[in-house]
This record gives sequence, C-alpha cells and structure tokens, in this order.
Amino acid sequence: MNDYRKPIPQIQPWSAPFWEGTKKHELLIQECAECGARIFYPRKYCPECWSSNMGWSRARGRGRIYSHTTTMTGVETKFLEDLPFVLAIIDLDEGVRMTGNVVDCDPDDVSIGMEVEVVFDDVTSEITLPKWRPVKK
Ligand SMILES: [Zn+2]
Repeated sequence: MNDYRKPIPQIQPWSAPFWEGTKKHELLIQECAECGARIFYPRKYCPECWSSNMGWSRARGRGRIYSHTTTMTGVETKFLEDLPFVLAIIDLDEGVRMTGNVVDCDPDDVSIGMEVEVVFDDVTSEITLPKWRPVKK
C-alpha cells in the first residue's frame, strides 16, 4: 500500500468530506442547501444558484456508463501494470456524473448504458479511490 506511486488527489477544504467518505467506503455527493442541486465535483459555490450553503448526502453508488475509453498503450511507466484499463464517465442514479476506472471485468465487455456499482480502492492509508464495476445480474 505504501509503495503507491501514481498521482493521488490533492484534497481541498471543500472536497475533504468527499475523500473522508471514500475512506469510509461511502460515496458522498454535494447538495446545495438553498436550491437542492446535486453537485459533482465538489465546489465552494453551487453552480446553479451561487450559494455557499452546501451539504452532503450519501449516494447509492450505482449508475450507468455514459461513455468510456480503453487505454491499450502509450502511458507513463507507472501505469504499465494497469494496461489495458478503462476510463468511463458514469451517470449516477442521483443525477451527477463522475469519471472513474471500470474494474473487475474485461475491457471488451464494457458498454454504454452498462449498469455499474462503486467499489473502493484503498490506494494509500489516506486516500481511497472510487472505481466502478459491472453490476452482476
Ligand atoms: Zn444552489
């Protein structure tokens, strides 16, 4: 775990609750307390009404793939062990979009509209990355 050499998120005051959530294996999304907008990525101000009165709610951790791409080659050395890997945009049931890796499946099996669920990868003692895997039928 301590030999993780890939980039990790830089935690900002306004995104800290999100990363505290992933560390506890909970997926949190921001919710504006004024207008109710659900927001991802975490921000200081609501993009809908500019309020700074922001709260958090726990997402179900389910969604569908909006788009995806598979990387086969041409990466920095530290990512070679991951090839091939899938990066996708996920439409969460709660109405926000997140970007993440799709894991635990053959990249050829990933498709637009595929139902996925969040999994948590504890990459360091401080950082847990949310990733996505196909929902087993
Ligand atoms: Zn708002």
